Amino acid sequence: MKKKAVEKIPFLKLPETVKKKAAEYAAVADVKEIDGEEQLFVEVYRNRKECRAVPVVRIVLTDKDFGTYFTESGSWSRERITKNDWSSYGLVWWGNDVRAGKPVNIMAEENVLYSQEDLKRIKDFVRVGVWDEEEWWEYIDQKQKDIARKERAERTERSRERREKALKQRKKNTPELPEERVLEYADGILFHRKHYLYYRKHRSRAAVACSKCGNVTEARWKLGVTLESQAERMMEEPKMGEYGVCPKCGAYGKFIPQGRAKNSYREEKNLFLGQKYKETGMVFRYITVMKEWNLKLSCTEKGIEMQSAGERLSEIETVRIYFEPGKKVQRDYCKHNPWSGIDFWDDCNLGGLNSIRTREAQIMPETYENMAGTFLEYSALEEYERAAGEVNAENYLVQYIQIPQIEMLVKLGLFHVAGELIRGRNSIVSDTEADRADTFLGIRKDRVKQLIKHQGAPSILRAMQMEKQTGQRFTDKQIKQLAEAGLMEQAGSLLEYMGVQKMLNQISRYAGCGYGTMCSTAAFRIEQTARRYVDYINMRKELGYDLQNTVYLFPKDLDAAHRRMVEEYSRTEADKRIRETEERFPLIKENYNKLKKRFYFKDKDFVIRPAASAEEIVMEGRILHHCVGGDDYLDRHNRGKNIILFLRAAGDQEVPYITVEIDAEHLGICQWYGAYDKKPDEERMQRWLDKYTTRLKARTLAAGSGTRERNYA
Ligand SMILES: [Zn+2]
Repeated sequence: MKKKAVEKIPFLKLPETVKKKAAEYAAVADVKEIDGEEQLFVEVYRNRKECRAVPVVRIVLTDKDFGTYFTESGSWSRERITKNDWSSYGLVWWGNDVRAGKPVNIMAEENVLYSQEDLKRIKDFVRVGVWDEEEWWEYIDQKQKDIARKERAERTERSRERREKALKQRKKNTPELPEERVLEYADGILFHRKHYLYYRKHRSRAAVACSKCGNVTEARWKLGVTLESQAERMMEEPKMGEYGVCPKCGAYGKFIPQGRAKNSYREEKNLFLGQKYKETGMVFRYITVMKEWNLKLSCTEKGIEMQSAGERLSEIETVRIYFEPGKKVQRDYCKHNPWSGIDFWDDCNLGGLNSIRTREAQIMPETYENMAGTFLEYSALEEYERAAGEVNAENYLVQYIQIPQIEMLVKLGLFHVAGELIRGRNSIVSDTEADRADTFLGIRKDRVKQLIKHQGAPSILRAMQMEKQTGQRFTDKQIKQLAEAGLMEQAGSLLEYMGVQKMLNQISRYAGCGYGTMCSTAAFRIEQTARRYVDYINMRKELGYDLQNTVYLFPKDLDAAHRRMVEEYSRTEADKRIRETEERFPLIKENYNKLKKRFYFKDKDFVIRPAASAEEIVMEGRILHHCVGGDDYLDRHNRGKNIILFLRAAGDQEVPYITVEIDAEHLGICQWYGAYDKKPDEERMQRWLDKYTTRLKARTLAAGSGTRERNYA
């Protein structure tokens, strides 16, 4: 939109006010040419004599673009001229209340076009159809919608093309996969060159089908008495699950009796191969290798006999992860098209449960040679793999790029800390900017050595972090015991009232067992007791007890004391909730008298009235055990959108019976419930409520009851 040029064009002006009484706004339209391009101007004026020179808004449309200019503020907007969703409908730009929404016929009377010529100019320009000519703004809106839709489609198309091109580029720059080497490596390292020897014994002989050479060989496993038999080929006795040698090719394999063998059996293993990508980047390839063993049987006169055996290796590459310096990590996935049967690469994952994920896997050793000279050279992935065994190289490197200190942690031998970071548990880091282990992890400098001794165990680290945070000094043994108790930051509150040794002893006493027993039951007891003790003290503290008092600090029976605190705590929590809601939803109380005038009704059996305060609503929900006390109910009532009403017996007005939610605008019942979300005496109560809302809608309530009151008076 050529905004400057548009602004230079003088206003069209409203020739005279429109005579129609209801017309608040009148619009004129004209087509202007700017730089050889036709533009439709629609200007909306307040329909008053003194407002005919300057419009409220000027809407400009070209064939491919649109914009609305606000004369008062001198600003432009790219929003469409109507807001049109399920709850409201309205013209946005010249003061019509969108939220309330108005029937279309009223809008058409309030917002008119100056003349039929204006309508014709609009129609000729936009060339789109609408339902009702009275709604002349629909022409503009439809056209705006059209333009926006086309733009969106073009954007999507451009982005698709860009992504496709990038994918192609990546494929081109990806080195070839050394398939043979991958299979060879997998067979040796992942499958340990596993072969199967299927056998069938027959007296002192056995037939052996070897998956390595494929042959079926007859051999004797027990010496015969005759001379000829002693010349026969010999083998050791085949026994299920044991290992032996193929009498034909000498391959080492596992014995499986013919009757126990599956026709086909397969195992899958994953591995990573990292290769150089472009100058200093790397591509990590996630490959699944399958090894399949099979036994072929055939039916002969002698029964089912082994015919041959075999084994096969195959691989499928499923994910490629591209790492380039300064760029976002890019992942491509291999997908399978079931219709064409073809595998193809795509830059987005499959959704939900089908999504392709990398796992911890072996990394092929040449990866580390390939890393030399890339920006991942100092990632310490190799050292980490050596310590951890299998590792998810993708997660490791993604985290390393964000937290380069991982290199330092691994090289120091803090493998478990590094492992936590690789799994995305970044909260153990105290200062992400720090380049020293102690400041990075938030522990005392002289603790690093001890942490290394424990290979960076998270529980030890947490105890050390607590030491630093509370500004204390623990012994090495205390650190170990704190780790065993699993105490973290929140245990700091205990240390305000007692020394660390006293705390540890107390936990041990409550748990009834000691530290360092290496017994899992005892360790569990200690951990659980520690958590309970911290929980107990924190509740006491929050409830305002004086914890200098040793009776509170060291209860005789921790479990019983904890239980009591939980009860007390939940009671006070409830009071807190009431105070909180009173503060958050003050309008409930404020509007009560106003609402009561409108909604109060009483007959000989029942009385119904609006809730007087947030507290009342919370209590109603609590006493009747339904969800009316929830925030969304309170909020709706507070905003005046819906009204919460209490229906109670006329003779017993203090006791909650039924809660009703009513739509403030349409005065229909949204829902009504008694205790436990049930509808007591449903038929009768429904009738009563229907009558109530009917009267409410007819506004006879106030008048009716008022008259009656007067009569009684
Ligand atoms: Zn063999």
